[in-house]
Parts: sequence; structure tokens; C-alpha cells
Amino acid sequence: MDNLTDAFLKLDRKELALLKAIERGMRHSEWVPVEDVMAIARLSPKGASTGLSKLVSKKLVFKTTEPYEGYQIGFAAYDLIALSDLVDRDVVVSLGDLLGVGKESVVFEALGPTPSAAAGSEGSGSSADGGGAKGSSFPLAVKFHRQGRTSFKHVRRVRGHLTDLPRCAWIFAARLGAAREFQILKKLYPEVSVPQPVALSHHAVVMEHTGGTELYKVDLENPEECLEIVLEEVTSAWKKGIVHADLSAYNVLVREDGEVVIIDWPQAVSGTHPESMELLERDLKNVIDHFGRKYRLDFDQDVALASVLGEDVKGEKAEKGEKGKIGLEGERARGPS
Ligand code: ADP
Ligand code: MN
Repeated sequence: MDNLTDAFLKLDRKELALLKAIERGMRHSEWVPVEDVMAIARLSPKGASTGLSKLVSKKLVFKTTEPYEGYQIGFAAYDLIALSDLVDRDVVVSLGDLLGVGKESVVFEALGPTPSAAAGSEGSGSSADGGGAKGSSFPLAVKFHRQGRTSFKHVRRVRGHLTDLPRCAWIFAARLGAAREFQILKKLYPEVSVPQPVALSHHAVVMEHTGGTELYKVDLENPEECLEIVLEEVTSAWKKGIVHADLSAYNVLVREDGEVVIIDWPQAVSGTHPESMELLERDLKNVIDHFGRKYRLDFDQDVALASVLGEDVKGEKAEKGEKGKIGLEGERARGPS
């Protein structure tokens, strides 16, 4: 979609009800029969059919006629459903420009009320008094997840064990990605420098807009200091039992004051994950290699690893594969990533 705000403003109540009805129906079938759409949306055949053809012409809804008349939504409509929920809940008051299009997300800037210190409203209930002062000028980033475009096979495998989840693989994957990221941000914030988590809706995570520029884009005056700050944040996350698992110069934001923010956490794993140590080493290598290439900094990876693990550099080397006692409570065998 070209413009999410425009599409949102042009959507009338009936159209929104139809989109939500199709989403509901997609829990059970990939193409939702027109009778089900009408029943769920509580619309007459006439009302439903004009609404549906408008949505089809806007490319928010796709139609099939074989073997029956059925409808499905795509990401554009799903974004609108999440956005309307966030607006209803007063989490988002206005939507701004596109902040970034990553491999697995579309991120918009937005404004909302200042989140309360006990951050993290969740679910679709109203957040009448959880939103803190009604200033409505707190800068937000709304990240619409897009995982399902790439991880179909994985999703089918996971879904095999779970009922009550959408049949549609991309909805499932995107919701899972958002839920994971929100959960991890809540666990890490504020001890680790990550965006403050604000809310979760469908496949969208709302968080503080931190400002800053991606590490790969900036020219640092003092790269060594920056690398040390990044390593400190990796260490703090490790102490909380989390490995980022996709750390790179793309997922580190550097602010004007030199402060560093680490973003993009849906694929993070706990310290008890069987591959946590390899992933931690890969994260460290990605970051250290970046500083090596761009600033000719020669930082030893083993020293970095030992320092993250809190070991004496000159003492025994970290025994690879040995798991720390830290980890997400109860997450051990269930974690999808
Ligand atoms: P992806 O998985 O698509 O890479 P990211 O979380 O890295 O998703 O977000 C994509 C881009 O959006 C980032 O590179 C960054 O420019 C911007 N961005 C994401 N979150 C924030 C945030 N909280 N504050 C400011 N910019 C953000
Ligand atoms: Mn990213």
C-alpha cells in the first residue's frame, strides 16, 4: 500500500467490519465463504456485497469464485485492522511517515500519549487509564511484522502441535514475530538500551521512537568507545538471559549524544537455547567485523566473548556450548525461534 494513513482515513465502518470478519474467518479457511463473511460482520447480502467490491477494488481484499465465492485479506488490510485497534485503544493518536522497510517489517513513526512507567499494555481491551498523561505527543515507532512472507515451512511445522491458531501461515508467523518481540522488549527494558515497549496488537508492536541513525550509516568520531558501549549492551542482555541472534550494524541505532539503542528482537533466543552460544559469537563477530572493516579497529573476538560471559580474559577460556543458568522462565522447549 502506498499510504497507510490515507487508506485508514478512507475506510468506513462497514468496510472495517468486513475486514475484521474476513480475518476471523481466516482462522478456519484460507478463503472465507461469502456467507460466513456476512454472518460474522452481521451485514445483509446487499450491504456486504457493495462493501466487499469496494474493498476488492482497493486491493485490500482478494476474491475467488472457485469452488465457491470466498474472500481473503493480505498484509495491507491486516495493517489497517491493527492500526484501527491501536487508535481505538488510544495507543496511537496520529500516524506519520514511513521510518523503514526491513526484510521482515514495515515501520512507521507515530504519536501517542506518554506511556506509563509500567509499560506494556496488551490485548484488545481498552487502556483507558493505562496510558499516562494525555499529552499525545510521545514519539512512537509502529512496527508491522511481515515474517510470514519468508518462513512458511517453519510455521507449518510449528503449527502442527498447536490448535486455535490462524490457518493462514503468514498471519500466524507475523503475529508470532510481534508477540516475541514485544515480550523480549518488556524483559529487557530498561536495563538494556532498547526502545521502550508500549503496546501489541495483532502483528504490530508499538514502541518508543528512539531516534538515532543505523550504525552502518554513521561516521563515528570515537568508534572504539561505541564498540565498547555495544558490547556492554550485549552483556546486559546476556545477563538477562537473552541473545539477540541478528545483531549487525543495521540493528544498532546511534544517537547524537553517542548513546546506542539495539533494535529488532523477534528472533532473539534465551541463554538456554541449544545454539545460544553460537548465536552470541555470531552477533559479536558481526559487530566486531563492522568496526574492523570501517574503522580498522582490531578487537579480539575471544576477548569480547569472555567479557560478555563475565570471565577472566587470562583465565580459562569459555567452555563453548556450556549453558548458563539464565534463561526465559519456562521457555526452554517451547520457543519457536
Ligand atoms: P527489520 O526486521 O525489518 O529489519 P527493524 O526492527 O530493524 O526491522 O526496523 C527497521 C527499521 O526501522 C530500522 O532499521 C530503523 O531504521 C527503523 N526503526 C525500527 N524501530 C525503531 C525505533 N524504535 N525507533 C526508531 N527507528 C526504528
Ligand atoms: Mn533490522
